[in-house]
Amino acid sequence: MPYCPVCFSDTMSLSPHGVIHLTINGKSKQSRQFLYNITKETKEEIAQNLEAKIEEFMVWFSSFQNKEPIRNYQLFSADYRCENGCKTNKVNRFSIIGELISGNKVEEIIHRLAKKYSIDVKLDVTE
Ligand SMILES: [Zn+2]
Repeated sequence: MPYCPVCFSDTMSLSPHGVIHLTINGKSKQSRQFLYNITKETKEEIAQNLEAKIEEFMVWFSSFQNKEPIRNYQLFSADYRCENGCKTNKVNRFSIIGELISGNKVEEIIHRLAKKYSIDVKLDVTE
């Protein structure tokens, strides 16, 4: 669990539903956000939603004249709350890797789709 910015305990847990933000190579667009609801969706469905968003990125990247390799990605959400009841604000965003989806699964999707769109993948240390 991420650390709470108020009480500094590792007590930040993800809300049952909220918004996930995706960036690849530091790029993001409003449309790259998507909703999750763990009371209604399975992890597999969340992974499918993520895959659709990553595919939009790949289509976008593949339209660039100089295709840059995929170097990093981030998946984060502001929909965390502290189990100690601290009042945190929405500015605080935390990774959802390991919470809603594993890093291995994300990388598997990235590698598979990058191949489909002929984009290189040279991932730095990921989070
Ligand atoms: Zn706290």
